[in-house]
Amino acid sequence: EAKNTGKGRCVVFRPALRRAAAQRIALEEDLRAAVEAGAFRLDFQPIVELATGMWVGAEALLRWPHPTRGLVPPLDFIPLAEDSGLVVPLGEWVLRTALQHRVAWTPRLHCRQDFCVSVNVSVRQLAEPGFVDVVTDALAASGVPPEVLVLEMTESVFIDEEAGTLAVLRALRDLGVRIALDDFGTGYSALSYLRRFPVDILKLDRSFIAGLLGTAQDQAVTRAVIGLAQQLDLDLVAEGIETYDQLEILRQLGCRLGQGFLLQKPMPADTLPAHCPSSAS
Ligand code: C2E
Ligand code: MG
Ligand code: MG
Ligand code: MG
Repeated sequence: EAKNTGKGRCVVFRPALRRAAAQRIALEEDLRAAVEAGAFRLDFQPIVELATGMWVGAEALLRWPHPTRGLVPPLDFIPLAEDSGLVVPLGEWVLRTALQHRVAWTPRLHCRQDFCVSVNVSVRQLAEPGFVDVVTDALAASGVPPEVLVLEMTESVFIDEEAGTLAVLRALRDLGVRIALDDFGTGYSALSYLRRFPVDILKLDRSFIAGLLGTAQDQAVTRAVIGLAQQLDLDLVAEGIETYDQLEILRQLGCRLGQGFLLQKPMPADTLPAHCPSSAS
């Protein structure tokens, strides 16, 4: 009950808190073992050109099949991986593995040869000295041209300017890698960042897409972000398209690219080439 005294609340909540802490520690131990054993896999969700249905690339999404817990959602273990620092080796595995999949797809891919692979990168990885070397090395080891790699990060990278984020992003840009701002609109969204930091792609957060038909505000924000991307010459991806109505509005508003369950759900890496529509020319 909300009106309980402080004392009463402690009695009720302390065991629950203790249990939660113990579960967290157990999960972290499992995570550490899984990182060492390489017990993860990547699924890929296509990024689709809305006007044509053509796939321009795919985003790698980390999957942890846990022996007893089943498939643990990334949002349940990525924060833990960030806090513990495990996201650094794990993120490097994601990067290298995503590029290997891209290489394996090449002979079977009916799509364009510039088919991109997008990898989510956490702030913790960017702040790690040597991140640019890791990316350089992973590209060299795979033989994938840098233009094919997109690194997705959230606006939180912009908060920590002292960590040398700007220099790291510039070095990545100099390699030829592209930078996408993930979940755009949910973070700080100080628009001055877009001028100062080398960003190539905006990914409009799916919460705006979910509200496209319901609220005038979400439609106004979407329209504004589409205009912003055009003015700043950035590519734009609408996230989380789930219905035909949403797809139709986004097409009408001139949004070029999209992702979502309506278009394609994330799929195992080996099945991607078989699902990829062949390009007309
Ligand atoms: P994200 O990068 O924004 O990825 C998109 C998420 O939205 C994915 O969830 C995807 O399955 C889901 N999604 C795609 N289309 C739809 C849709 O139409 N409707 C709905 N409701 N959801 C859709 P997932 O795979 O659970 O990943 C969640 C988040 O975990 C990602 O969000 C990303 O922030 C993080 N993540 C995933 N893989 C990695 C990774 O390798 N490294 C890092 N650092 N983070 C990762
Ligand atoms: Mg992403
Ligand atoms: Mg996203
Ligand atoms: Mg998201």
